[in-house]
Amino acid sequence: MQLVFATNNLNKLKEVQSMLPEHIKLLSLKDIACNEDIPETQPTIEGNAIQKAEYLKKHYGYDCFADDTGLEVEALNGEPGVFSARYAGPQRNADDNTNKLLTELRNKHNRNAQFKTVIALHINGELKTFTGICKGTITSEEHGEGGFGYDPVFKAEGHNKTFAEISLEEKNKIGHRGKAVFKLIEFLKN
Ligand code: IMP
Repeated sequence: MQLVFATNNLNKLKEVQSMLPEHIKLLSLKDIACNEDIPETQPTIEGNAIQKAEYLKKHYGYDCFADDTGLEVEALNGEPGVFSARYAGPQRNADDNTNKLLTELRNKHNRNAQFKTVIALHINGELKTFTGICKGTITSEEHGEGGFGYDPVFKAEGHNKTFAEISLEEKNKIGHRGKAVFKLIEFLKN
């Protein structure tokens, strides 16, 4: 069985492939010659994941899944949320985004936040979603060199290191994307 993962990130693809039963073969966007930007114009993380999966099914005909992630900060009423990638502007720069977040939170006592990943799966004419949430707090300055995006300023609940200070393996175990992927895999196995 072939399933398209709406990504060109080969690390993500390999990681998910390695957790799937052998009869499920993942294809990337490049594998199906999808070179255009897939629209992500919905007002929610879930909406964007669904939009991407439906676009692929409609235009390419493959069963597929797509993911979308955002950081929701309590003191900012859930922002940046669906705008996480372009929080500081259309240049989608991770350092700019992180700096803006730290500036917005300066002098705020409530540092609670959560990462949320939604995976939308289009399979056998049906649409299913799987959500992974990782609760934590935003630090007052950056720590660590690993990871990407907001990782240097996010500490998961019960951990005293940021996501940029732990291994990818550890992050996958406790992180938002790992949890959503785990639910997807459990569904595909059954
Ligand atoms: P995407 O939906 O995976 O493209 O994620 C949207 C944006 O959220 C990214 O550009 C990052 O800024 C941020 N983001 C997503 N996942 C993570 C993560 O695991 N750690 C830190 N930032 C993330």
